[in-house]
Amino acid sequence: MNFLEERIARDGVVKEGNVLKVDSFLNHQMDINLFDQMGEEFARRFAKKNINKILTIEASGIGIACVVARHFNVPVVFAKKAKSINIDGEVYVAEVESFTHKNKNQVIVSKSFLTENDHVLIIDDFLANGCALQGLISIVNQAGGTVEGIGIAIEKGFQVGGQMIRNLGYQLESLAIVDGMDAATGEVRFRN
Ligand code: 5GP
Repeated sequence: MNFLEERIARDGVVKEGNVLKVDSFLNHQMDINLFDQMGEEFARRFAKKNINKILTIEASGIGIACVVARHFNVPVVFAKKAKSINIDGEVYVAEVESFTHKNKNQVIVSKSFLTENDHVLIIDDFLANGCALQGLISIVNQAGGTVEGIGIAIEKGFQVGGQMIRNLGYQLESLAIVDGMDAATGEVRFRN
């Protein structure tokens, strides 16, 4: 097991409905040394890519993205959840369905902060069905930028997102891939 898998095995809690709770170290209380290790690992895996910007989505991607960005020395832009009423022509918009909250949000990024000159690394905490990533990819495409890679902390490999994104040809690096989990026993099974 790698450092993140070990932490999930120790502190993750399996909930009903295929939800893994990691809020003691990843998306409520945040272990910054762990995020730093994640940044180091993403920097190694994307070493060949010329990345000048990191893109994530609020809220739980932001903390990870900021610490990861220190390893690339680039700025972070996060897609904001927005009410459609406020949307003017100055933003890129994508619709994202939340896996955890089961609602749809429009997310926006200002046209000022993403352009055709950007070579983007997308970062997020979880990959489940891939809706969040599809939204972020769409925003980079609207800007005419390039998605150089996608870095995920925890991929739930038994949901469709990972395969869908890899089939599209993106370099998707997930630091932990969960292939199964059991809410009754609390067991989490990782992909080798
Ligand atoms: P997707 O869009 O890939 O279906 O879901 C990704 C988003 O849903 C992530 O940004 C994350 O916030 C949330 N998410 C999906 N699965 C889980 C889970 O098992 N646990 C937690 N804590 N969040 C999840």
